Amino acid sequence: MVSSAQTKEIIYQPVIGLEVHAQLQTETKIFCGCKVAYGEDPNSLTCPICLGLPGALPVLNKRAVEFAMRMIIAVGGSVNERSVFARKNYFYPDLPKGYQISQFDKPIGTGGSVRYNVGKEPERICRLTRIHLEEDAGKSLHPEAGESQTRVDLNRCGTPLIEIVSEPDLASPQEAYAYLVRLKQLLQYLQVCTGDMEKGHLRCDANISVRPVGQEKLGTRTELKNMNSFKGVERALTFEIDRQVKLLRAGGEVEQASLLWDEKKQMAEPMRSKEESHDYRYFPEPDLLNLTISSEWIEKVTSDLPELPETRKKRFVSEYNIREYDAVVLTDSRELADFYEQVMNQFDDAQAAANWIQTEYLKTLNDLKISIDQFPVRPKQVASLLGLVKSGKISGKMAKTVYAEMVSRATDDTESDFTPEVIVEELGLVQVSDESTIVPIVEKIIADNEPQVTAYRGGKDKLFGFFVGQVMKETKGQANPEIVNRLLKERLDS
Ligand code: ADP
Ligand code: MG
Ligand code: ZN
Repeated sequence: MVSSAQTKEIIYQPVIGLEVHAQLQTETKIFCGCKVAYGEDPNSLTCPICLGLPGALPVLNKRAVEFAMRMIIAVGGSVNERSVFARKNYFYPDLPKGYQISQFDKPIGTGGSVRYNVGKEPERICRLTRIHLEEDAGKSLHPEAGESQTRVDLNRCGTPLIEIVSEPDLASPQEAYAYLVRLKQLLQYLQVCTGDMEKGHLRCDANISVRPVGQEKLGTRTELKNMNSFKGVERALTFEIDRQVKLLRAGGEVEQASLLWDEKKQMAEPMRSKEESHDYRYFPEPDLLNLTISSEWIEKVTSDLPELPETRKKRFVSEYNIREYDAVVLTDSRELADFYEQVMNQFDDAQAAANWIQTEYLKTLNDLKISIDQFPVRPKQVASLLGLVKSGKISGKMAKTVYAEMVSRATDDTESDFTPEVIVEELGLVQVSDESTIVPIVEKIIADNEPQVTAYRGGKDKLFGFFVGQVMKETKGQANPEIVNRLLKERLDS
């Protein structure tokens, strides 16, 4: 026995491995032709196959296999040319067959890794153990206040999933969070999963143990379930690490178990003692053939992969010569990166476009809480607007006014035109850059304000703004400020 004084000295290190379930965004389910959709009438999207009626036979959806392949290839894993579906037997009210078709010892994908960043620290890597295909179960709708029954909706039964199992390589809740962010980004780039955690399209079970720093052997783990956001995963892990460390320091032992995270109470409570794989009585699914994948098919999927975020970011830096940070923001989602490139097809100042999209455009999306595809202001309008500024037709300040008007016209219901040229014309926002027009006005302002001129020349530098203001007022804000500044300086400072 170690004395308690000594036990308190021990510093523990967390070890985390994640199991992520991603719903594949196929049109139909994995083993039948029923539609995959969220929010439809309960039990309206079912058939004898996904209800598990006797005699109904599953037929594998090729698209689901292709989506799984995309992800496996994108993380650098190997697509196994032969894999086997297996029955995982357990009872659940929302699992009418009494088993789930999954994969066990011969999954479709093995290995690979995910790179992620925590803050400004160097990139880290989490290895993947495996990626396998399986079907989702239905949903139990538990009673709300005033109701007494739990009801079952089987629409989700048979929705294709991939389960992505990581090695226990993550060393903190922050790393787990960063890993999840990258995983979701990848799934979205590949267009295999929406990544929407609120709708349950992405779900994560987090395995966590702690061990004394320097110890090789892993500690006993618990498994956290039921988190519905990445921040929730981070909080649940933080809670559980703290619990395990306190327990061990007090001389106790961690018991292997599944725990349910309660977001309201901010604590995890035991759900059941952890089942072992032999509890599920896995056996090869007799109603399905082994899944064989040709090397030609693997090559085809590989060559059809989209450019992935990391590669795209590097290309943005080299091709457009923008700052690395900007490239990270602009390649955050495939839609935003596409948007930027479409603007750049019609405009030639890459950094100006990068700055503008990050400030104005993203701010609008954020304020209006809409996604890019829901926003009627398209690359064409953005490119024209930026072009008007670049050519000096309007000032940067006017551009903001024009843009605000574009946004309000684009998002109201009336069919008004929101092209920048039309708005510039309608608001009479033309910038005057013609010197022969501005010079007489500048000279008039200087002539009309002799006391200020004397004071300015006597050292009151701040008065310069007064002259600029007077000229802008005289030109109704239309004079090009750069030219006004220069003309005033030439005359006042001489
Ligand atoms: P299951 O949870 O289905 O029994 P595994 O035993 O393969 O499956 O483990 C699932 C996850 O738990 C993996 O992500 C793995 O990295 C992680 N894991 C395994 N052992 C530990 C441990 N001692 N501490 C933390 N994570 C662990
Ligand atoms: Mg598990
Ligand atoms: Zn069906």
